[in-house]
Amino acid sequence: MINVTKTYLPPLEEYQNYLKKIWDSAWLTNRGELVKELEQKLTSFLGVPNLLFVNNGTIALQIAIKALDLKGEIITTPFSYVATTSSIVWEGCEPIFVDIEKNTLCIDADLIENAITEKTTGILATHVYGIPCDVEKIEKIAQKHNLKVIYDAAHCFGVKYKGQSLLNYGDISTLSFHATKLFHTGEGGGIVANNKEVFDKLFYMHNFGHNGPEDFFGVGINGKSSELHAAMGLSILPYIQQIVAKRKEISLLYDELLLKNTSLRCPKLPKQIEYNYPYYPILFDSEEKLLDVQKRLNDNNIFPRRYFYPSLNTLKYTKSFSCPVSENISTRVLCLPLYYDLDLSDVEKIGKLIIL
Ligand SMILES: *Cc1c(COP(=O)(O)O)cnc(C)c1O
Repeated sequence: MINVTKTYLPPLEEYQNYLKKIWDSAWLTNRGELVKELEQKLTSFLGVPNLLFVNNGTIALQIAIKALDLKGEIITTPFSYVATTSSIVWEGCEPIFVDIEKNTLCIDADLIENAITEKTTGILATHVYGIPCDVEKIEKIAQKHNLKVIYDAAHCFGVKYKGQSLLNYGDISTLSFHATKLFHTGEGGGIVANNKEVFDKLFYMHNFGHNGPEDFFGVGINGKSSELHAAMGLSILPYIQQIVAKRKEISLLYDELLLKNTSLRCPKLPKQIEYNYPYYPILFDSEEKLLDVQKRLNDNNIFPRRYFYPSLNTLKYTKSFSCPVSENISTRVLCLPLYYDLDLSDVEKIGKLIIL
């Protein structure tokens, strides 16, 4: 069976070496040595001012919304994983959906100002499939209207834009280190803030609000992760360049097999990007064609994923919005199998089955 993804596992002995350290210290959580080591290594690897390792990418979003004190309406994208929207609702805010731009599939920055009201406090946009939003335009709008910007950067591990980490744009960026993501810790996530004061607040908030053993900065939650999770991340990090290189090779082969002399297409990357190949999304002409191909692949024991479907503006628990581009794209996009040890011969087989 070939699935849309397969979790990368580091050499077992390397994970065991970290486990040995954990056994020796008998210290499993509450910001142990391995959590701190992982934070340090990720900060330097990614080229960011700071990084807080938390227990998943969803709590990262929720803590970000809390730390920036967002209230009322938050402008967001309908083309993302459900956690982007659910975090807004969970934090007692209202998601205001703005449609996406048809090339990058990220929020259409030209439509944002129209959606701003006196209740708007922030923008929460996803760099979908690791493709940067129009960060410059969004920054201008945010400054003009005094809004905070959070980027759901769950797909952006290692992406550089204009020579620096994509995570350095906006007030806060959040990452997911879920087992299905490019870099993972089993479950896990990260938060990056551009401002030291905001970072300090995030730090207190992810640890019950503790500001010393008997003192509290304010309200907090348990967003901490454990030494066991940090050990997984530390064991994988040395292999990340190798992992990305292999995913690039597979993606380029898909390009070769699928994009020449066909009507299939991929989302467009902007210039000046150093990409990480987290997914291989392919767009069909119609949902009918997609379903046809999906069935053919399934019959051959190959399981791509309709990611992202459905468009989040159609969720039952939010106010309904019309986002024609996102609704249309989400019915036509399929993410193809892409993972470190996927054989190139299988990629060829998948390619042939698709253009049949
Ligand atoms: C995976 C993902 C999340 C959620 O991350 P978890 O670590 O699974 O909680 C949020 N947003 C996007 C865009 C994602 O792909």
